[in-house]
Amino acid sequence: SQYTPVPERYQQMRYRRSGRSGLKLPEISLGLWHNFGDVDRYENSRAVLRLAFDRGITHFDLANNYGPPPGSAEETFGRMMQTDFRPFRDEMVISTKAGYLMWDGPYGEWGSRKYLISSLDQSLKRLKLDYVDIFYSHRPDPETPIEETMMALDQVVRQGKALYAGISNYPPNEAAEAIRILRDLGTPCLIHQPRYSMLDRWVEDGLLDLLEQQGVGCIPFSPLAQGLLTNRYLDGVPADSRAARTTGSLPTRLTDETLAKVRALNGIAQERGQSLAQMALAWLLKDPRITSVLIGASRPEQLADSLQALDNIQFTDDELTRIESIL
Ligand code: NDP
Repeated sequence: SQYTPVPERYQQMRYRRSGRSGLKLPEISLGLWHNFGDVDRYENSRAVLRLAFDRGITHFDLANNYGPPPGSAEETFGRMMQTDFRPFRDEMVISTKAGYLMWDGPYGEWGSRKYLISSLDQSLKRLKLDYVDIFYSHRPDPETPIEETMMALDQVVRQGKALYAGISNYPPNEAAEAIRILRDLGTPCLIHQPRYSMLDRWVEDGLLDLLEQQGVGCIPFSPLAQGLLTNRYLDGVPADSRAARTTGSLPTRLTDETLAKVRALNGIAQERGQSLAQMALAWLLKDPRITSVLIGASRPEQLADSLQALDNIQFTDDELTRIESIL
């Protein structure tokens, strides 16, 4: 069926400027790491993407390797471009990245110019786009000179294959270097994408201050700790959850100690009249240095729930103190 977005979509969302750039992002953005691959049901992926745009989510985040299999999340989004989203391209900020393993041989991962430029060309084909809005270096490369990686980002922007450059997973020292080099090249770093949630606060140790000083935006990924900071695991591991489906770090993080924290946090969320997911997102958005929180959702209902975080992102001092003592 033909897609007609909800006309009131922009009244339902707030937008924040990314650092000192001209670009605004929705307070909540949607990522396609999980739930949009070939292994997932297209009609469900489509329903989540439509709901997102209908609620004022203008920013969709991808990477070359999202799926599984790698590349298939970009293909899903490309299919959506053809069937639903093409008329709204200029209302969207679409990002992709290169850095993690994508193809065999010495040119299929990390930070060489060779890899970054060929990977973006592949991504554009899968996405059925002429350009992405943001192209990221997905992780710092300890071997490639950082100048080479940043010059590749600068070049794709000059070629019009990307409008802005970003970095992800760069610790403070490397981030400072990258930001300086990009500025010297004339393509200022738009945004940094780090992991950040109530359960993983490494960015509070220098990175957020750096980004504020330098006028660079910040878009935390896995703000729900991949689902841990939700009602998902309060009573065990549901069969359709990410912890049951994947063999990654998530199952090992479901320790008794973490679950005790999650349950205590859930109590405070209930007092606030929020779901735990809503409180976890609000807790990040209370900080003006955060441009947007980058969430995932495996079904439309989860996205709808998470979006209600925007109804209350204020915390009393007492709530903050109690949260701090739990964490
Ligand atoms: P989240 O921390 O938001 O976790 C999303 C998962 O939480 C969902 O798949 C779902 O789990 C569960 N969930 C979401 N909302 C709710 C809700 N309201 N109630 C109950 N459960 C809920 O983020 P992700 O880890 O998915 O990461 C988000 C995005 O960040 C990625 O898609 C990607 O774009 C980006 N990212 C970037 C990385 C990088 O290196 N730059 C690394 C990782 C992510 P379930 O599937 O079990 O239902």
